[in-house]
Amino acid sequence: MKAVTFQNQTISMIDAPIPEVSAHEALVKVLMAGICATDVELFNGYQDFQGIPGHEFVGMVEKAPQAPELVGRRVAVDINIGCGQCLKCRTGDTRHCSSRRVVGIRGKDGGFAEYCALPIDNLRVLPDRLETIHAVFAEPLAAALEIAQQVHIRHDTKIAVMGDGKMGLLCAFALNHYTTNLTVLGRHADKLDMAARQGISITNTAEVDPEKLEDRLKGAFDLVVEATGNPDAINQAVQLVEPEGTVVVKTTSHQPSEMNLAAVVVNEISLVGSRCGDIGFAVKCLANQWVNVAPLVDTVYPFAEFEKAFEHAMQPGSRKILVAFE
Ligand SMILES: [Zn+2]
Ligand SMILES: [Zn+2]
Repeated sequence: MKAVTFQNQTISMIDAPIPEVSAHEALVKVLMAGICATDVELFNGYQDFQGIPGHEFVGMVEKAPQAPELVGRRVAVDINIGCGQCLKCRTGDTRHCSSRRVVGIRGKDGGFAEYCALPIDNLRVLPDRLETIHAVFAEPLAAALEIAQQVHIRHDTKIAVMGDGKMGLLCAFALNHYTTNLTVLGRHADKLDMAARQGISITNTAEVDPEKLEDRLKGAFDLVVEATGNPDAINQAVQLVEPEGTVVVKTTSHQPSEMNLAAVVVNEISLVGSRCGDIGFAVKCLANQWVNVAPLVDTVYPFAEFEKAFEHAMQPGSRKILVAFE
């Protein structure tokens, strides 16, 4: 089968054997995959990942010796594979198993390949009414929905999402169901427009003097979600949240953040890290069209043109780049 690998910041399309499935696994034929900022980080050497990347994808089950009912079904993939033995795993929290593997990110080959072997327990069957091109957003949407699993949000909680990139917009689309008081702060008129069309308030920070903006919005929000991708934006997030408010941090970067914790201490702010969420819940939201991800699709490339697709995904301002396998 054809598969992609990254090495020393080059992309190779290799011929790899179709993976063998172990007892609890299924062989999944990949239909469509999304390229995400984490893939760009892996390409740049993050996690020193050696295998086949790709963690946002939809496939069709071709073989599942222990779950024959799955054969022929389309599935999305929960990317965290726990050891199954530790206390975290035994209490259902494989996401925080210390020896977990993460599909396409850590210790397990991912979906930038024609086939992928995956544990049956990690597959979520997609309803027929959910199109593959939307289902491919299940993994990043789950990460966005996770915020409302971590923080109690009321109908009138004042929320700001910082960042109008793919993750920022997904967080906004997800949180739009939890509060009537949501603002996205971003720098791109076209991206902000996507949020405005879903009834979300917007502030284009590129059009406002930064000092005036901080004066106007200082302490204006109960909850600030920092999803800019910029390791220093946490400092502004802390300024925007009210005393005793919460800042949810979504940005992961190989560069460390530099922050003055005094404001966090004095104002008794809670900092909450937020990573992956429940894929099944995201699939349900997409299937019921509670979250409209269609505007986030930029371009779909054939898998054979993966390199071109990846270059496009690395361009600042690109929306979601997808690769299709048929
Ligand atoms: Zn991702
Ligand atoms: Zn474990």
